[in-house]
Amino acid sequence: MIELEDLRADCTRCTGLCCVVPAFERSSDFAFTKPAGTPCAHLTTDARCDQHAVLRERGMVGCTVFDCFGAGQALTARVERREDAFAAFPRLRDLHELLRYVVEAEGLMDGVAGEDDLLRRLRAARRDLEGVVAQGPAELAGEDVDARRGAVNPLLTEASARVRGGGPDHRGAQLVGASLRGADLRRASLRGALLLGADLRGADLRGADVTGADLRGARLEGADLREVLFLTPPQLTAARGDATTRLPRGFAAPAHWLRVRSGSAPRRRRSSRPSR
Ligand code: SF4
Repeated sequence: MIELEDLRADCTRCTGLCCVVPAFERSSDFAFTKPAGTPCAHLTTDARCDQHAVLRERGMVGCTVFDCFGAGQALTARVERREDAFAAFPRLRDLHELLRYVVEAEGLMDGVAGEDDLLRRLRAARRDLEGVVAQGPAELAGEDVDARRGAVNPLLTEASARVRGGGPDHRGAQLVGASLRGADLRRASLRGALLLGADLRGADLRGADVTGADLRGARLEGADLREVLFLTPPQLTAARGDATTRLPRGFAAPAHWLRVRSGSAPRRRRSSRPSR
């Protein structure tokens, strides 16, 4: 059985697929352009990043908010040559993310009285996805991830609704740059909401569903995210917070949140990629 621990990146067991397979363009997220299937100039021969400690300072924020959800090490273990994993990598990454949601939903429903049927369907979906992600690279490359998502999403929304009860519905809301300071968003559905640059300082998000919400640059200082549903590490890393942000169990504040500002030199840190 695949556990949440297996759906976390372990760069020590990967050949740097995330620094080779995707293309990126010079932008506010990347300091230079790199074509797909080409190793980044900063990737060392032992698959480490020589900019690891200073990615943000060097204009490579995009690298710090990427998470393969364990797809990198899973594929590395299945191929002889790195090239053989290229086509499968993006699909397995998305499938691992989906499986992560299903595992979380199953945990939410486990032991809840009267939810036996939903729990049974979630367990069946988990078994099905575990079989899918265990396939070889060739089979994974042909996977229709959108179809898999379409099959699983109703279960996730059902689990979310059961847990949240009657929280407000802001699914897919356009809240870019919105002023939500101190807002009461307890048990809200924020699935797919665009919260880019939103001011959520001091907001109460306890028990809110943030599946796929775009939190890039959102201000979370003093916000309460305890028991928030379906949050992922890259979402948190893309947001801005500090030591006053209250986090769900199992999450730690990204290192860049805690860095001393006001002109002092940056300290060395660990990024969302723990060992590269
Ligand atoms: S993490 Fe480092 S090696 Fe990987 S793409 Fe970013 S800068 Fe390049």
